[in-house]
Amino acid sequence: MPLIENPVYNGPVPDRADIVIVGGGSVGLGTAYGLAKLGYSGEVLVFERSYLGSGNATRNAARFRYHFFSKENSKFAKEAIRRLDEIPKLSGVNIIFNKGGYLWFVFKEKYAKVFKKFNKEVWAPLGAPVRELSLDEVKSLYPYLRIENALTAFVGENDGSFHHDYLVLAMASFAKKHGIKIMTRIEVERIIVEGGKVKGVRLKGGKVIKTNNVVISAGVWSNDILKTVGIEVPIKPDRKCLLVTEPYRFVLEPLVILFEEGHYIGQTLKGEFIASSAKGADTETKDYSKLPFKWLLETAKVLKRMLKIGSAIRILRAWCGSYNVTPDHSHILGRDPEWPEGLYINTGYSGHGMMLAPYSGELLAKFIAKGVVDPDLKPYLPTRFKEGRLIKESLVIG
Ligand SMILES: Cc1cc2nc3c(=O)[nH]c(=O)nc-3n(C[C@H](O)[C@H](O)[C@H](O)COP(=O)(O)OP(=O)(O)OC[C@H]3O[C@@H](n4cnc5c(N)ncnc54)[C@H](O)[C@@H]3O)c2cc1C
Repeated sequence: MPLIENPVYNGPVPDRADIVIVGGGSVGLGTAYGLAKLGYSGEVLVFERSYLGSGNATRNAARFRYHFFSKENSKFAKEAIRRLDEIPKLSGVNIIFNKGGYLWFVFKEKYAKVFKKFNKEVWAPLGAPVRELSLDEVKSLYPYLRIENALTAFVGENDGSFHHDYLVLAMASFAKKHGIKIMTRIEVERIIVEGGKVKGVRLKGGKVIKTNNVVISAGVWSNDILKTVGIEVPIKPDRKCLLVTEPYRFVLEPLVILFEEGHYIGQTLKGEFIASSAKGADTETKDYSKLPFKWLLETAKVLKRMLKIGSAIRILRAWCGSYNVTPDHSHILGRDPEWPEGLYINTGYSGHGMMLAPYSGELLAKFIAKGVVDPDLKPYLPTRFKEGRLIKESLVIG
């Protein structure tokens, strides 16, 4: 018997469920994980149309940070990081949680002031301050970095990384152990609503599953399903890509970001550098299959510019995914009371949905199963767009 079983359920598709979750990415699995953690005993089905994590869950940089330019997101991140940290103990899967830090290079005085203001007013009170480093300190701490013309640097020592594949596996395994059925290669085609209430979902091929609750967590494809009941949320895809080099000596613990330009590099514990230029990939597409050559060239330049050994490094692989961007770069969680009863959303993570998924899943689980709107969930309700209560978030990397 393997220590960790394959979390995918291969039995017959049930005819009914108490809750159907659409999408087997980090966010759909986070919701399943949250329901399992709550001890929810009803029948929960997760439908993923491809393999688990086939959307963006395995196409990201797998980093976590406390530091956002809004009180709401910084507070949410603090809780989310605590949840990430506890996942290995709860699930039995090592997600390689590691506090390697984030290092921001800032080039303009006005942005250095913003970092200092948020540090004083938000991050330090949350217990996760950033520390300003002189450029001489940076040189002695990270001798392999080449940063010209930077004004200053800020390090967030409590930020870090995990392994995205193992986070997906951990959440799915935990959900499976608690009886949740996670099914792959099954596409949800539409939501069925009668008399203002969710009554089921129809799968591609025609099978209908009776249910009174459906969670749409289909990433950038969420509106394709919501539209089947005449609803849309304000999300749009923004293609982002990443490359991985061959492994080298481990010299760079933090993720290093050029703040104003958005380029970043880091190193995995295995020694591979990861890098992404913020230039050359942006486009509103859900099609990840093409790797833009322009982006690859720009990212090679970033490696050369930021690392003394940059021009000697060999690229091993690269891929694209997509941020799922909302107007305030913050996720959409919960439901609008004007929607059909039983319809919930969990999407729009705008580039930070891996690290937030286990916590938002926990909050949504409480909302669905117990009707509790946690104070941490409230700012993210979909109603904020029509009520003009947007979260002022602008610290999006890449
Ligand atoms: C280059 C890059 C770097 C990133 N770096 C980070 C980072 O360092 N830290 C971080 O926290 N986040 C990061 N992100 C963001 C993170 O990857 C996403 O926020 C997260 O993966 C979103 O998860 P999701 O479940 O909402 O969407 P997805 O992972 O895209 O999952 C949606 C799933 O729904 C499925 N689906 C769609 N339609 C249907 C249907 N009709 N029926 C059934 N299934 C369906 C899809 O197949 C897909 O698997 C990064 C993203 C990119 C692209």
